[in-house]
Amino acid sequence: MSLLIYAESADGKFKKVAFELASYAKKVAESLGTTVTAVTVNAGNVSDLSKYGVDKVLKVTNDKLANFNAKAYADVVKQAAQKEGAKVILLSSTTDSLYMAPLVAVGLEAGFASNVVGLPVSTTPFQVKRNAFSNKAFNITEISTDVKVLSLAKNSYGLVESTAAAAEEDFAPSLNDADFNVKVASVEKTTGKVTIADADIVVSGGRGLKGPENWGMLEELASVLGAATACSKPVSDLGWRPHSEHVGQTGKPVATNLYIAIGISGAIQHIAGINSSKVKVVINSDPEAPFFKVADYGIVGDAFEIVPKLTQKLKEF
Ligand code: FAD
Repeated sequence: MSLLIYAESADGKFKKVAFELASYAKKVAESLGTTVTAVTVNAGNVSDLSKYGVDKVLKVTNDKLANFNAKAYADVVKQAAQKEGAKVILLSSTTDSLYMAPLVAVGLEAGFASNVVGLPVSTTPFQVKRNAFSNKAFNITEISTDVKVLSLAKNSYGLVESTAAAAEEDFAPSLNDADFNVKVASVEKTTGKVTIADADIVVSGGRGLKGPENWGMLEELASVLGAATACSKPVSDLGWRPHSEHVGQTGKPVATNLYIAIGISGAIQHIAGINSSKVKVVINSDPEAPFFKVADYGIVGDAFEIVPKLTQKLKEF
């Protein structure tokens, strides 16, 4: 049973999730007695992948794939899986990978399990553990199809370095012109800003910040920490912040190493989306705010006093 991963990259550089997925794949491959092949699309230095246990890299280089296109990318992964005879295909839990994972599964007539945590519970029958109910519970899912597609829950597996070198091979899948009917006219990038999906630290603001004019202090804290900024649902509903920053059950999920919530009450729908974060910190003036029940560290006080002081202290380090 061979194993294939799709190693995600942006602007020619691998995302951290690609290394996380490779580390995880190595362990799964060991339990299956096989090796790890990675397929990459327009990625630069693919040798970086071998540091995390990849044995072979299929390099796809094609200008048509310069912008993410779920159907075309899914087709690339499908053809790579068929070429390698892969029975297990692993993807990350980024927006792009989650968009294409079901398409890969349909293309390969494979069963698909999302949000997988930990190594397979059993390989015969093939069973995996998954986050369920907004990460409040786990379930065990059995996949009985010959080919299996899994997406690994974000930040659920650490980076494990390896010393072996990966073999590299150019791979030219056939692309379907019909998949390129919609053309991307332009791509605008938020330069210098860390995205929520890629961030190790997220600094998030709620209605307690009173208005959009007060976000400067939060952005400054985020910039000192190299963090992404996020917000609660009402904040984006009110137009104080863009909808792309809304996190929670109905917004983006956050599974980061450090989540700092400022002026956020900790409603169940908010917590559901950020609960997988490893360390949660809350700054809130109300000691009864529900967020304190789930936080690892809490500061009771006025955000307008605490945040500038915290930023200043961090700058001194
Ligand atoms: P509030 O609840 O108003 O809390 C503001 C907090 O700021 C309070 O705790 C207050 O003590 C504190 N505060 C005030 N002044 C200060 C100060 N000076 N310094 C420090 N703290 C201060 N919400 C989400 O966030 N994400 C979701 O995905 C989401 N999905 C939802 C889905 C459904 C179906 C429903 C019904 C609701 C959903 N909500 C979601 C809304 C959720 O229920 C809450 O209403 C929302 O999370 C509250 O946002 P908030 O904490 O910013 O505001």
